[in-house]
Amino acid sequence: MIRRMASFLLCILFLMGSFAVCQPVPGEAAAPAVTAAPTDAPTPAPTAEPTPSPTLPSSPAPTETLEPTPEPTPEPTPTPLPATDPVITLTGGEQLTVNAAFAFTDPGAVARDYLGTDLTDRIAVEGTVIPYLVGEYALTYTVTDDDGRRAEARRTVTVVPVELPQVIDPPPKTIYLTFDDGPATYTDALLDTLKQYDVKATFFVVGRSPYRDVIRRAYEEGHSIGVHSYTHEFENIYASEEAFFADFLATEEVIHRQTGQYTTIFRFPGGSANTISLYNPGIISRLAKIMEDMGYRYFDWNASAKDAQSPGSDNILEYYSTLVSTVKQDGSPTIVLQHDPNVYSIRALKYFIPWALKNGYTFLPLDMTSPVIHSRIYN
Ligand SMILES: [Zn+2]
Repeated sequence: MIRRMASFLLCILFLMGSFAVCQPVPGEAAAPAVTAAPTDAPTPAPTAEPTPSPTLPSSPAPTETLEPTPEPTPEPTPTPLPATDPVITLTGGEQLTVNAAFAFTDPGAVARDYLGTDLTDRIAVEGTVIPYLVGEYALTYTVTDDDGRRAEARRTVTVVPVELPQVIDPPPKTIYLTFDDGPATYTDALLDTLKQYDVKATFFVVGRSPYRDVIRRAYEEGHSIGVHSYTHEFENIYASEEAFFADFLATEEVIHRQTGQYTTIFRFPGGSANTISLYNPGIISRLAKIMEDMGYRYFDWNASAKDAQSPGSDNILEYYSTLVSTVKQDGSPTIVLQHDPNVYSIRALKYFIPWALKNGYTFLPLDMTSPVIHSRIYN
């Protein structure tokens, strides 16, 4: 008992000095925990007193210098990109100038959203370019991303006419023999006659002719090849600009297959003065301009063998006389219309060519620099 009392007193004394919790004397039961502080006094926080670290040396006081302390480089923190509208980039730019042509190929555009995802497939284009009509056209490109953000870009397409070569005055007394509606049964014989006199002529061909292989021979022997028609069916050809183009281009393909070249000269079926096309008012006037804007030249005639009638005359000498009388006497250029399906008209050349050569005439094939002889257009 004396030991317990002594232990208790010691404990009290000790606690008053250090606030430590009494440890029971070994072998004794633990005494109830006692705090030395009076109950109404505030309990000081045990961490309030700074405990100097015995192991760390105290940092030296920062030395003040005049040098500014460099800002610490901030760590690059990945921040999400702000969502912005998609971007459309027009291939070929906002201003595009193209030559009048049968077709227009849009150089297109590329679109991406703000994350770089390709949206090109979603681009919608509004507006139309009529490629054969000279003028200005507006195209609008729009695209919408997954979140409904939209972008728009505009392009102006300017269709300009193709510059045609200058016409060169031919020598005086030049005759251009021209043959429509072939090749036909007698075109080979006609080529023989022309070869015999070393005369070059012009063939305005029909694409669907069963004799179209003869186009190759005519071309190889130095004659000019021009487009006349593929079908020569007026009711279809002049139904619309597009119908005319389709017929024209089909003939161009035949010529290209035969000669390896596309031609830029043509003659309207029926000539530009035809009235067969009146079922479509104004079509010839429109086509005459459009075709020239696209770089083609059409040729009518100012002389004729008058051999288009079917069956027509079977008198070779009659055609010969007509040819002689139709040639320009004043030395100005003559473009003669003949049709190679008419054998009598063709045979008359065996007389007409020697007559013309003897009288100082020169024969030339038509090309883009030849004198442009146009009839009056009625439609
Ligand atoms: Zn014809």
